[in-house]
Amino acid sequence: MTARVVIIGAGPGSADLITVRGAQWLARADVVLFDALTDPALREMAPNARWVHVGKRGFSDSTGQATINALLVKHANEVDLVVRLKGGDPSVFGRLEEELMALAQAGIGCEVVPGVTAAIAAAAATKRPLTRRGNGRSVSFTTAMTRTGALHASRTADTEVFYMAGKQLCALSRRLIEAGWPSDTPVCVVSQAGWPDQLCSDHNVATLPRASLLHAGRPTVVTVGAGAEPVCVTASEMTFNQRFGRVETLKP
Ligand code: SAH
Repeated sequence: MTARVVIIGAGPGSADLITVRGAQWLARADVVLFDALTDPALREMAPNARWVHVGKRGFSDSTGQATINALLVKHANEVDLVVRLKGGDPSVFGRLEEELMALAQAGIGCEVVPGVTAAIAAAAATKRPLTRRGNGRSVSFTTAMTRTGALHASRTADTEVFYMAGKQLCALSRRLIEAGWPSDTPVCVVSQAGWPDQLCSDHNVATLPRASLLHAGRPTVVTVGAGAEPVCVTASEMTFNQRFGRVETLKP
């Protein structure tokens, strides 16, 4: 079965964060079904393809996903190559299983090309490795959202990165404390990671609610624990951080 659909991770932001393999497939696409969080500049890589916006933000209902699945199958039956372009990595909170199942049920061959997920982009933006020798031996990617809309937090790894929690940082702070994280545990919040206007702010579990305003309305990841610690800061920065906490804009 040759691939008639390629599901590509576009990366978290600027078009140049897509992989070379992803860009090569994209250049051959007849139809591109793309998400909201992908860079419009990616169109230049497939100027002759038909671009179809199927993006959704926040909670996606099952009808929305069913429509996307149906569109994938419909276009795959009409043209040679369909690209399904997803923000970040398709395998991380990307509803990939539903799309793979729909394609398999329709007997359509497909391939998946990985992308840079938001947690990794945030680690790069802040120069904060998610793993650390000694105290950062495990990393967990967690969605704070459950199907019912209730917020969930846990303490299952040395570094825990929460997706889809940007609108509920006050509740996340409370849940983290309930889950056993000490209130002075470092927390790093990054929104629009990988984009020119990415923002980063430092907090701890107790002061996390203060990040709400700064990152409002932007895709945001929250890194808690070992991976949120700055690697090294100069003496003057330390004084500033200790006295005021830090809020800064990081530019690539
Ligand atoms: N597949 C994507 C995740 C999709 S779920 C990935 O691998 O990154 C959508 C959530 O991802 C958002 O609510 C936000 O928590 C996070 N996200 C996506 N892009 C982001 C970005 N550029 N910066 C920060 N968080 C981002």
